[in-house]
Amino acid sequence: MTQNLISFHTFHLDVTATQIIEITSIEQLINEWQKYPQPKLLLGQGSNILFLDNFDGTVFINRIKGITHQQDEHFHYLKVQGGENWHQFVKWTLEKNIAGLENLALIPGCVGSSPIQNIGAYGVEIEQVCDYVEVLDLTTGKQFCLTKEECQFGYRESIFKHKYKDNYAIISVGFKLAKAWQPKLAYGSLSQFDPQTVTPQQIFDEVCKVRAEKLPNPDEFGNAGSFFKNPVVDFAKFEKIQTAYPAIPHYLQSDGKVKLPAGWLIDQCQLKGFKIGGAMVHLKQALVLINHHNATGQDILNLAKEVRKQVYQKFNIEITPEVRFMGNNGEVNSEEVTQCTI
Ligand SMILES: Cc1cc2nc3c(=O)[nH]c(=O)nc-3n(C[C@H](O)[C@H](O)[C@H](O)COP(=O)(O)OP(=O)(O)OC[C@H]3O[C@@H](n4cnc5c(N)ncnc54)[C@H](O)[C@@H]3O)c2cc1C
Repeated sequence: MTQNLISFHTFHLDVTATQIIEITSIEQLINEWQKYPQPKLLLGQGSNILFLDNFDGTVFINRIKGITHQQDEHFHYLKVQGGENWHQFVKWTLEKNIAGLENLALIPGCVGSSPIQNIGAYGVEIEQVCDYVEVLDLTTGKQFCLTKEECQFGYRESIFKHKYKDNYAIISVGFKLAKAWQPKLAYGSLSQFDPQTVTPQQIFDEVCKVRAEKLPNPDEFGNAGSFFKNPVVDFAKFEKIQTAYPAIPHYLQSDGKVKLPAGWLIDQCQLKGFKIGGAMVHLKQALVLINHHNATGQDILNLAKEVRKQVYQKFNIEITPEVRFMGNNGEVNSEEVTQCTI
């Protein structure tokens, strides 16, 4: 007997797990996790995962809920359980007149997954608002707390992709939000607002509007958002590319390197609408690979390989997946399996 995973991940591929268990408390998570053999997988909303195959093990769905709120003169302190839905949590903060998360509206997923790749959008990353992360060692049942510094946040990076990757669960995330709110308006259409008069709700509404226009709704066309990370290149390499493509958008980093939008690079390869099997490069946003029609994990993988190859051939730049890949027996190195032989 197996159970279908189609509604537990946003690519909505027709894949199965041996069993799926919904988790609503820490005690239940420890008990159930220790009951079953490997392979095991803890999921939030499944919005950053590509199943390459059926999963021959147990999937645990984190639905541990709860939010506590404290404040002093200068800050709001929120402790949020990992199974809370991220966007609903952002909405909740605005309803309570707590500002600071509005730029991160409409990102799918659970709060417990948000530190793993240091989610970010519209000029804000979670590391700017995170205070601490509470972690459960699933093997021993022991809990511990990491400060924001100990989380080692980087661009789509944290310690949860390395030292605390396997057999650890993020139980809750602490947020510290300043009462002296400063709007973050540097990105895209947010720059239209006047920083003196704009409200958090206006930013939230604008972010939701733009995201709904630009990104495919996973319930219509399965996807996992940005499939690739934006590459960061040396300044000398950037200058060379800029000579050939003067219009290339670019973001200078504090270390002198330059971040380039992977979506723009893919678009220059004329790949919007390009299909392999049931998988397609999204027509409006080249950075998103979609389940266009009954795609398999292999279709998406083959498409990712082809996109990566074409970008490499044109720009001599390696783009690597942001999405995590899951094979039938556990996680697969997404960088290795999309490597192209040219
Ligand atoms: C339409 C769309 C738009 C998106 N836009 C953005 C964006 O703007 N910015 C951005 O940063 N991301 C974006 N994403 C990616 C995604 O929303 C984030 O990566 C999100 O944090 C994933 O959360 P999740 O709960 O769905 O994680 P899942 O996909 O369920 O899990 C991802 C990985 O984390 C592990 N994991 C999950 N929960 C836990 C836990 N509690 N403890 C330990 N490990 C855990 C899983 O085992 C898995 O390896 C987008 C995705 C989609 C579909």
